[in-house]
Order: sequence, then C-alpha cells, then structure tokens
Amino acid sequence: MAGTKTFFIIKPGAVRHEHIGPILAKINANGFHIAALKMLMLDRHHAEHFYSVHREKPFFESLVTFMTGGPVVVGILEKENAVAAYRKLMGATDPAKAAEGTIRRLFAENIERNAVHGSDSDENADIECDFFFSKSERFSKFED
Ligand code: ATP
Ligand code: MG
Repeated sequence: MAGTKTFFIIKPGAVRHEHIGPILAKINANGFHIAALKMLMLDRHHAEHFYSVHREKPFFESLVTFMTGGPVVVGILEKENAVAAYRKLMGATDPAKAAEGTIRRLFAENIERNAVHGSDSDENADIECDFFFSKSERFSKFED
C-alpha cells in the first residue's frame, strides 16, 4: 500500500520571492495535512548528500550552490498516496513542461530554481523526514 506521508522543501528562490505563503496555501487547498514545518539553511555537506544521485551531472555544483544560498522551508505532508499526489501538485521538474496550476508552473524560475522539492518514493520520504524531524516535531494525523 502507498504511504501517507512525503517530505517537501520550498527552495531558496521561492522563499526569497515571498512565495512561502502561496505555496503552503496551495498545498492545503489540495487536501494535504502539514504534519511538520520549519525554516533553516542547508549546509553544503548535506545538500551534496541530498542530491548525491546527481553528483556526475553538469548542473550539480550550481544546484548545491543554489540550495545553500538562502533559507529553505522543510516539512512533512500527509495525504493518501502522498508521494505521488504531491509530485503531481509540484508538476514537472522543468517548469516549461509543468501542467497548468501546478506549483512549479506558478512559482518556478527555471529548471534549476524550480521552487519546490518532493520525495520520489516512500522509502526516500522516510529517510528525508527522519533526517529533518525528530519525533517531538511531528504531528501526524495517521500515526501515533
Ligand atoms: P526534486 O528532487 O528537487 O524534487 P525532481 O525529482 O523533479 O526534483 P530531479 O531529477 O531529482 O528532479 O532533480 C533534482 C533537482 O535538480 C531539480 O529539482 C532541479 O532543481 C535540479 N535539476 C534537475 N535537472 C536539471 C537540469 N537539467 N539543469 C539544472 N538543474 C536541474
Ligand atoms: Mg528528485
């Protein structure tokens, strides 16, 4: 059965352009419960680890510099089939290909500065949620 939680990041560009509120409103309007939320700076070591699957890509350095260049908002979202549901709401990685009404279509600057991250599997959602949030920082409506 698909899991009920996913991990998300509002990336530095969207934070800088005052899009935190509109993005969270869109998330709530689409039926997600916000189970955890905080604002922080990613350090370089962690950003490199987070995007390590892209280490060999030409955009890796630029991506890490972007992700560590300003504060981000990180959080946990809950809904039935959360990973797929939130990836649909985010839209395609490249905002030029993202569907009308998706977060990336509305708020992304380009394929790198694309406003938001969302976990790509239940397994990665667990890893990412556990990295950023302790038990006392999580307010699940599905789990104890
Ligand atoms: P994310 O992992 O951030 O949720 P995603 O799963 O849609 O996004 P990935 O292929 O995992 O996309 O890429 C991770 C991130 O790397 C993208 O969100 C984007 O910021 C950046 N990225 C991906 N492809 C490119 C590219 N061709 N040029 C520049 N940056 C890119
Ligand atoms: Mg990804």
